[in-house]
Amino acid sequence: MAGAKGTVFNIQRYSIDDGPGIRTTVFFKGCPLSCVWCSNPESQNLDPELMHRQSICKRCYRCVEACAEGAITVGPDGIEIDRDLCTMCGDCVEACPHDAMRITGKEMTVDEVFKVVERDVDFYRDSGGGVTLSGGEVLLQPEFALALLKRCKEAGFHTTLDTAGQGNTEGLKSLLPYVDLVYFDIKHIDPKIHRAQAGRTNEAILRNFKEVAASGVPFVVRVPVVPGFNDSSDAISDIADLVATTSPGATVHLLPYHRYGQQKYEMLGLDYEMPTADAPSQDFMKAACEIVKAKQLACKVTV
Ligand code: SF4
Ligand code: SF4
Repeated sequence: MAGAKGTVFNIQRYSIDDGPGIRTTVFFKGCPLSCVWCSNPESQNLDPELMHRQSICKRCYRCVEACAEGAITVGPDGIEIDRDLCTMCGDCVEACPHDAMRITGKEMTVDEVFKVVERDVDFYRDSGGGVTLSGGEVLLQPEFALALLKRCKEAGFHTTLDTAGQGNTEGLKSLLPYVDLVYFDIKHIDPKIHRAQAGRTNEAILRNFKEVAASGVPFVVRVPVVPGFNDSSDAISDIADLVATTSPGATVHLLPYHRYGQQKYEMLGLDYEMPTADAPSQDFMKAACEIVKAKQLACKVTV
């Protein structure tokens, strides 16, 4: 099992927003959803991807010379990448003297991930922290997640599973015995609205939420509050109703939309579909929190 492999796009040490204490967050690559507001667009595709950072590119064109596939050409605004021709060989990354190219996503064994994770055992112990599995969607790689969680539990680490809930229920159930805390995203109750902006309906998510709630594993529901999608009293109230009915007294975190990930779309050659959207106002976030609390749930606005 320790030899199990998965695709990871980041391992973030000293993380303080992904569960209690100081943590290491392992970001799984690949997500069945395609939320238009996603701040980690590099997490959606399961395969490795080439990222080019225009803002630090010095237009030296060494990458053009390095690419044997002819995937990089010079256009009016700098380099242009034909991603259909790219074989992800990494030669342009090596050739770039300015770190303007990188490949995101790497296949790793559980042993390799664990070697990074175990470096911060002292921080986990002193802060009550541990390891968080996040994404992307962890449930897309359940065997890898299970092997990694088992390894972390053998080492005595606190484990958090951060999931959008979009995955196979049996896979989720296999993970839960090795999870100390679940962060479970619920975005919208209406399946049509959910499908329109997250790429899929929410049936599997709501089914999996009930599994988590029934499992006895502590959980927090996390709601990204997104303009034009669920930034209304009704949408927040519907989510709160579902949580209150399923698990009275549960905790809900509201996460205001932000645009921090916008530049990454350009780096991946993708369009960002919300270029002019503003974050919800503090007044609305406060009011939304009161709506949730009125259902006898705990609530706070977080990041
Ligand atoms: S990763 Fe390789 S094939 Fe792709 S653009 Fe760079 S040099 Fe060309
Ligand atoms: S090698 Fe790097 S800095 Fe030079 S053109 Fe290519 S991406 Fe830009």
